[in-house]
Amino acid sequence: MIKIPAIAQVGEPILRNQAKPIERISDYTIIELIDCLINTAIAKKGVGIAAPQISQSFRLFIIASHPSERYPHAPTMEPTAMINPRLLSHGEEVVKDWEGCLSVPNVRGLVPRYQSITVEYSTQQGETKQDILTDFVARIFQHELDHLDGILFTDRITDSADLYTEAEYRQIIAQNSK
Ligand code: ZN
Repeated sequence: MIKIPAIAQVGEPILRNQAKPIERISDYTIIELIDCLINTAIAKKGVGIAAPQISQSFRLFIIASHPSERYPHAPTMEPTAMINPRLLSHGEEVVKDWEGCLSVPNVRGLVPRYQSITVEYSTQQGETKQDILTDFVARIFQHELDHLDGILFTDRITDSADLYTEAEYRQIIAQNSK
């Protein structure tokens, strides 16, 4: 049976810590942690989850993009583990769009993020990979990378009028898709 861990909630100190780099990807605890994060992302229908969100302070997250009401054109990805991820460079364009977070329930907000980024991370197989990410996937990467540095999406909101409840967000999305 798959055990889904509790999600750390805003206010818990673990979400504000600087997470530790992973030294040995082949360690059994890391392999187990990756499996657990992937299962949790799937169970919670999240598009991303970072290790500190299940109270494991390591530099590791999962990106699992899939289309949603707000992002109907989001690519469908196999859940992908990114270990010791780094943002190498970014384009000039900054885009505001909706985000939510399993650790900040019932809150949605319009968050400014770089539209295009160049990133580096280690794969589960221990290879170092560089990628150019754009749009929704770039947004997920920046949101998850922030979790490794103790930052929540609500910290990135530049105008408090960009903060909404889940119910208000649903109404706005429904109106815009008419
Ligand atoms: Zn989050």
